[in-house]
Amino acid sequence: MRVMITGGAGFLGSHLTDRFLADGHSVVGLDNFITGNPDNIAHLMGHERYEFVRHNISTYTYVAGPLDGILHFASPASPVDYLEHPIATLKVGALGTHNALGLAKAKGARFFLASTSEVYGDPLVHPQTEEYWGNVNPIGPRGVYDEAKRFAEAMTMAYHRYHGVDTRIVRIFNTYGPRMRPRDGRVVSNFIVQALTGEPLTIYGDGSQTRSFCFVSDEVEGIYRLFMKGDADPTNIGNPNEFTVRQLAELVVELTGTSSPIVSRPLPTDDPKVRKPDITRARTLLGWEPAVPLREGVLKTIEHFRRVLG
Ligand code: UDP
Repeated sequence: MRVMITGGAGFLGSHLTDRFLADGHSVVGLDNFITGNPDNIAHLMGHERYEFVRHNISTYTYVAGPLDGILHFASPASPVDYLEHPIATLKVGALGTHNALGLAKAKGARFFLASTSEVYGDPLVHPQTEEYWGNVNPIGPRGVYDEAKRFAEAMTMAYHRYHGVDTRIVRIFNTYGPRMRPRDGRVVSNFIVQALTGEPLTIYGDGSQTRSFCFVSDEVEGIYRLFMKGDADPTNIGNPNEFTVRQLAELVVELTGTSSPIVSRPLPTDDPKVRKPDITRARTLLGWEPAVPLREGVLKTIEHFRRVLG
């Protein structure tokens, strides 16, 4: 297959590229480096089945030659990033998704949307199944990301139903691992970088809010299987083991051996209180479930940040 991956120099996009190349496929990577990082694809330069195009998918997009798949992974995805780039976030979810779908239709390619657990907002159903419609504040600061992704899902289903495009939607839950940017503002990268640089670990609020953290190799395997053998209905891919943010901070302190203190900072607006995927659908449809425990994944991520921070 020849596939195009938008956001191809991002955290997930670059790992996904490696996965497709490892299976013998060809990949065209697109990125405009708003939050993507050239270092993530440096090892691919000169690879005979890899091409890179620096381009903003929110503008008109044409790619020469056949495409069997288009995977739309371009978007700022950390709360800090999408607060810094609110309009670009809305545009890539809306215009970028439309352009990518139009290209998929023109090429007869399968379309794969990277959606998010944020479509569930601050959820009133726990754990979150795909049937849950969510509890999102459209005009809050996180609305730029949540609503863009909700629009992207609606647009994807419209192309599926109206134009008959073969589509997939993955709802990605918190994912961590090597190639995260040290200052992307997410909790796992923040805590590890703070621990390694001797800064205080910043817990927002009282730290009782929960997240369920999936190591990147598990996430990418689930996404790859969904692309290859899933169907059009949205599918949660994430790790159902739930932890409080405070538990995560304590684990990072233990595993780094840091003497950094843990401090409290204000809770951001509309910060979801709980989050945990119900992955029954992924288990039955794809035979997939995560394999890497948090302790092991965090250790690997610590190694990554030790290298990056030198
Ligand atoms: N968080 C925190 N300290 C940080 C960064 C994040 O306590 O330095 C909290 C944040 O308030 C949220 C959780 O960790 O409750 C996960 O935040 P993240 O930015 O990783 O992503 P989210 O799941 O909110 O999209």
